[in-house]
Amino acid sequence: MIDVVKEFDAVHGTAPDGVWAAPGRVNLIGEHTDYNDGFVLPMALSHTTMAAARRREDGQLRLFSAQGDSRVSALAVTELTPGVVAGWAGYPAGVVWALGEAGHDVGGADLFFRSDVPTGAGLSSSAALECATAAALNDLYDLGLTPPELALVAQRAENAFVGVPCGVMDQMASACCTEGTALHLDTRTLEQRHVPLDFEAAGLYLLVVDTRVKHDLGNGAYAALRTDCERAAGLLGVPALRDLALADLEAADDRLPPELRPLVRHVVTENLRVAEAVNCLNGGDVRGLGAILTAGHISLRDDYRVSCPETDLVVEAAVDAGALGARMTGGGFGGSVITLVETATVPKVEDNITRAFSAAGFPAPRSFTAMPAAGARRIR
Ligand code: ADP
Ligand code: MG
Repeated sequence: MIDVVKEFDAVHGTAPDGVWAAPGRVNLIGEHTDYNDGFVLPMALSHTTMAAARRREDGQLRLFSAQGDSRVSALAVTELTPGVVAGWAGYPAGVVWALGEAGHDVGGADLFFRSDVPTGAGLSSSAALECATAAALNDLYDLGLTPPELALVAQRAENAFVGVPCGVMDQMASACCTEGTALHLDTRTLEQRHVPLDFEAAGLYLLVVDTRVKHDLGNGAYAALRTDCERAAGLLGVPALRDLALADLEAADDRLPPELRPLVRHVVTENLRVAEAVNCLNGGDVRGLGAILTAGHISLRDDYRVSCPETDLVVEAAVDAGALGARMTGGGFGGSVITLVETATVPKVEDNITRAFSAAGFPAPRSFTAMPAAGARRIR
């Protein structure tokens, strides 16, 4: 393994005070519900972003990432303002800024990052980078923040400093998940439950397939979907779409323009799928998750319209080869697909996906199996 302590030293010329790690995540179910005050069920991946860090007393922030632009970004903490830090350094700098905004006395730091979370693959490398930074500063400056508090700081960094209007799921997953559980989160109250999840004991694998495509329309489309959901909630006179039940859908259709109806249908049914999935897991029925995943994908494809040919093809090829279920995970327009597969069927499913991609002329996807891993923590 590459030694981040040595790498830190090579860049910053001294030893770090410690090393922290924060994971990427996959969301099992509950997509596009977090900005509608709804429910989500992510789990952390074993892939992490490591942050080796040392406190500085001169108010300087010096940032380097092995996955970045091969140079140290040197910034003065008191001069951090949204819009001034371009590129990847905006994520960790945004965390320092957000801590200051929240009234925490954070001075400078040297930071070195190394990550094996694929970036831009819908696996939340951005939250991993933010949460690793937040966990490091929390300890270096004795801030005493809890994991959910760190997640909110990280989200504020991404929303207000980097300028990405993401919901709170990714940061909550990266900060709060525990090994062997999925995180059942109410994004309105931030109430969270750790739901035991053991794929191995059920004879199953969760196969994550990174399509390696990210269609450009993603960011603009995401913001537009958020606005449309808020507009629909306003027209229906509810604080958020989370406040609608299945029984409200028919009446809601009469009060909404046609283009908003499928969006509302997705959010309402997706919240129900989260509840169903949690029931399955609590009842020890991990296999039952399969059909819920596929139903979630169809809803994202046909109602929310955020899937793309590549993610649709992975789902189709996986299910055709005997997977119990599959769905795109993350915001959509590319990224990754999760598929629930019996252990013995994994090679057949992987093979079918590879063949389908080759036949369609798409670049080969890459896949790995995932177990629910731990959230942000100090590792050295
Ligand atoms: P995702 O979070 O799904 O991976 P995002 O677009 O939200 O995709 O975030 C990806 C961006 O986050 C990258 O383009 C890069 O700017 C930044 N990033 C994430 N991890 C790292 C890292 N380890 N080093 C440098 N930049 C990173
Ligand atoms: Mg992200």
